[in-house]
Amino acid sequence: MSARIQAPRGTFDVLPEQAAARMQLEHVAREVLEGAGYQRIETPALEVTELFARGVGESTDIVQKEMYTFEDAGGRSLTLRPEGTAPVCRAYAEHGMHKWPQPVKLWYLSSFFRYERAQAGRYRQFWQVGAEALGSQDPAADAESIVLLATLLDRLGVRGLRLRLSSLGQLSTRLEYRERLQQHLRENADRLAPEVRDRIDLNPLRAFDSEHAGTREVMATAPRLIDQLAPEDAAHFADVRALLDAAEVAYEIDPTLVRGLDYYSRTVFEFTSDALGAQSGVGGGGRYDGLVEMLGGPPTPGIGWAAGIERILLAAEAPLAPAGAPVSLYVAADVDGQGEEKPTRRSAAFRIVTDARAAGLGAQLELAGRSAKGRLKHASRIGARYVAVVGDGETVLRDTEEGVEQTLDNNAVVHAVIRGLRDL
Ligand code: AMP
Repeated sequence: MSARIQAPRGTFDVLPEQAAARMQLEHVAREVLEGAGYQRIETPALEVTELFARGVGESTDIVQKEMYTFEDAGGRSLTLRPEGTAPVCRAYAEHGMHKWPQPVKLWYLSSFFRYERAQAGRYRQFWQVGAEALGSQDPAADAESIVLLATLLDRLGVRGLRLRLSSLGQLSTRLEYRERLQQHLRENADRLAPEVRDRIDLNPLRAFDSEHAGTREVMATAPRLIDQLAPEDAAHFADVRALLDAAEVAYEIDPTLVRGLDYYSRTVFEFTSDALGAQSGVGGGGRYDGLVEMLGGPPTPGIGWAAGIERILLAAEAPLAPAGAPVSLYVAADVDGQGEEKPTRRSAAFRIVTDARAAGLGAQLELAGRSAKGRLKHASRIGARYVAVVGDGETVLRDTEEGVEQTLDNNAVVHAVIRGLRDL
């Protein structure tokens, strides 16, 4: 026997039972988002590498070490998308969506790829549901976006939710702040974790994420960006908060909230769940007013979020009720004395199944050569109320619910089932 081939590390199969829960999640997401005017978009899994280098940012963990990047046979550098916002902004610019009525609200449910350390709740191919509203600076667009994610997570039964909120202000504020923070880090360099010290130049903000005791002490007295916002950004943030208060969405202001992507400005937020372990982030997002322009489109403000499907399912109260397709009829060709199905019976059975499906019934054909007893057991397993055993021109149709049988002409079976179901 050959060695068994397995799925790559950090990836997983979505088995039928899990697929049903995911379909239910998608159904709820669609209801919540389309009810608020969001329309579905799907972008390709492959993008040119430049999109993320420019959009997500050269200094981020994602671009530095987590991307699946390769050269294709034509010599182009391509990357499996690690996130959804930059692709949606690319599509906005590419399709001239600035000419559509603004804001353009788009949602997606797609898989993403990051070369991360695989563990529970963290995979190398994972799924996100996301929503982006492009073309509005209004603080109400920020609040609406956050409320929609809160509503979605709530409707899906995610336990122990907490919302952290902050504002990053505008680029000039951030650049000035970055220098002040770097100065603070340099002054205290001897107390920092080596990996934090190494990244003072490249990514000083990540120091806030460190668990290292010395670093945490240094960060406790670090200057805070939120105290240095320009007046218009501070006013924008105050409006967002007031709208969330009015909507009775609870949040904590967290000045240390740093998201792993460079494109954010003004509002940033993250939902976590106490029901998850170390990987407690369920979903997050923020405003990215410069991103479309950075990708070569017209200046366009934007706000959005993405939430991880696997984390939502892990943190949900009860397994999402799968709404499986009902099966009404199960059809088998009767076997003869030797246990063989006659070809004429088989084709008659096949015909009945096809006709039943054309009439809108859920129907299944026996494909494993089960015995009479095995057939009844299987009918109950798949939840089929009617079992048809096809003989020569005639079929015995059993209503398992009523425990009654009738013998019918083969042509009359589908009608009898429809009539029986209608009489319920
Ligand atoms: P991010 O784009 O990093 O802000 O991620 C948004 C959400 O996607 C997170 O809150 C997680 O729920 C989910 N997520 C991000 N990375 C992964 C991963 N490697 N595996 C599973 N879920 C992830």
